[in-house]
Amino acid sequence: MTAEDLKALIRTVPDFPEPGIQFRDITTLIGHGAGLAATVDHLATRAERAGAQAIAGMEARGFIFGAAVAIRLGIGFVPVRKPGKLPAETIGVDYALEYGSDRLEIDPAAIRSGQSVVIVDDLIATGGTAMAAAQLLRLAGGTVENALFVIDLPDLGGAARLRAAGLTVQSLMQFEGG
Ligand code: AMP
Repeated sequence: MTAEDLKALIRTVPDFPEPGIQFRDITTLIGHGAGLAATVDHLATRAERAGAQAIAGMEARGFIFGAAVAIRLGIGFVPVRKPGKLPAETIGVDYALEYGSDRLEIDPAAIRSGQSVVIVDDLIATGGTAMAAAQLLRLAGGTVENALFVIDLPDLGGAARLRAAGLTVQSLMQFEGG
């Protein structure tokens, strides 16, 4: 399936979770077996070309795609978690969302010094989540140069923000507007 085919599997829900937000829902994509497999294939091809030695995915939807890509490539998966979930010593960072704010944490022992870690998430909007993840993974000693997304909302500027911070950003599809 092409990226255009996969885009047709995304459901847009207006005014969720707040008025004015066009929620790009992956439920319909991941519920489609061939669509899910093709999405993982497209991401894994890009992660392999980027030289990934580990995949980092953000809770919760980044876990779905990130873990699948890691399995496909036979490399490890680093969970970037919401606060208070990890049992060991963590490092964390607070960040702003398109709607609200949040915090991410990782277990720094999950990454080897200099290991090439590729970020995978479902969607990039303002880029706050991915910037926070990149910051944390770098703090833990990872080399973070690539971020992969199923969906980019380019009008919200996140991909541009990541590129300005030295990351290579790729997405399978884009939606105009916020
Ligand atoms: P951001 O930090 O602004 O780049 O937001 C990224 C995260 O928020 C993604 O992991 C998405 O899960 C979620 N998100 C933000 N905006 C939307 C949207 N319009 N539709 C669906 N998910 C969104």
